[in-house]
Amino acid sequence: MTTNEAIFERAQKTIPGGVNSPVRAFKSVGGTPKFIKKALGGYMWDIEGKKYVDYIGSWGPAIAGHANPEVLEAVHKAVANGLSFGAPTEAEVLLAERICELLPSIEQVRLVSSGTEATMSAIRLARGFTGRNKILKFEGCYHGHSDSLLVKSGSGLLTFGNPSSAGVPEEFVSHTIVIEYNNIEAVRECFSKYGSDIACVIVEPVAGNMNLVKPTKEFLQTLRDVCDEYESVLIFDEVMTGFRVGLDCAQGHFGIKPDMTTLAKVIGGGMPIGAFGGRRNIMSKIAPLGPVYQAGTLSGNPVAVAAGLKTLEIISRPGFYDGLKSYNEKFTRGLSDIATKKGVKFCTDFIGGMFGLYFLESVPKSFPDVQKSDTDAFNIFFHKLLENGVHIAPSAYEAGFISASHDEDSLKITLTAAEAAFEAVAAHKGS
Ligand SMILES: *Cc1c(COP(=O)(O)O)cnc(C)c1O
Repeated sequence: MTTNEAIFERAQKTIPGGVNSPVRAFKSVGGTPKFIKKALGGYMWDIEGKKYVDYIGSWGPAIAGHANPEVLEAVHKAVANGLSFGAPTEAEVLLAERICELLPSIEQVRLVSSGTEATMSAIRLARGFTGRNKILKFEGCYHGHSDSLLVKSGSGLLTFGNPSSAGVPEEFVSHTIVIEYNNIEAVRECFSKYGSDIACVIVEPVAGNMNLVKPTKEFLQTLRDVCDEYESVLIFDEVMTGFRVGLDCAQGHFGIKPDMTTLAKVIGGGMPIGAFGGRRNIMSKIAPLGPVYQAGTLSGNPVAVAAGLKTLEIISRPGFYDGLKSYNEKFTRGLSDIATKKGVKFCTDFIGGMFGLYFLESVPKSFPDVQKSDTDAFNIFFHKLLENGVHIAPSAYEAGFISASHDEDSLKITLTAAEAAFEAVAAHKGS
């Protein structure tokens, strides 16, 4: 039998760090990543045959459960007709129509192949549309790995303590302004100083790449107001939150209409896809209609589109999000109760199908709050859960995800594992 350890050692010879995306490595928590053989419903199995309740959900896409039979059937049907044509298909039109229906802020949408492409293209378009250079982002928010967005970023950069990347010339990020999340004063100050030079504001309308940090309604409203006043483009990066926090996404939940939205993750149901869309007068500036260039060989890939369409159909059914919420309620309350019983400083938050677990006194509101997390406690907690068959993200700075397949059985396994995990944290603290 191949062990995780053996394949990881081998992997590191031909793949940098042994992984194809840094967040998959166990660098911050230590140990060997589990090499996954298969995933069904709410569970994953590693190559040694060990089963885990999965709270990573492919980092968001697996909302309908891994290997959802309906999604697989749609994919199989699409595959039988060929993998890619480099020419338009009817299914792309259906997906675009469905996205526009579900999100009234989107009048036109273009499909790409990843979230990174979606945000990168949205920024270029906002700059082309306004004729301005500056962009405003928030500390701890991650918007993919394009150059101008890799500044004080979340996700893997945060996990490994390099919030800004090497290899990005200073000139490339000299137009990127970064301020604190949820800080209304800072937003106003920034706009009064640079407002007429700001092409766009890009924000995770619920931050999910510095653990889970919810916005205040006032924060999002302030962004809307200043963008209206200064004619800047408001971009909601809903790559993570889109169809994850609810069928109307974060923009519907908070009742704030952005000018542009970026999507990925859930809309591909596990296949590589992304999308950016928004007001028609902005979208009409993109090639072939307008002067802003953007393209993709595999954009609107028929197999990915088929998986996305079926996933959107599944999540549109009555009660879908009630199920996620009900699981999340029991899950987060269950964990908090155990932590309290064991005397561990810990709290939780959730929205729709995503959650945050914090080794903190209270739920964080910004990046500086998140940074106070007890990462030693997290690492012990993480490994003890893993040992007991529960796989959460290997970082204290990532949100977690549930699917419609998580049920009473997975909850029971999770809470039993959590007893042992909080016990281990408490023992460590006491030592
Ligand atoms: C995951 C993510 C991205 C990047 O998407 P990729 O498909 O990994 O390129 C961008 N923005 C947010 C908010 C994300 O969560």
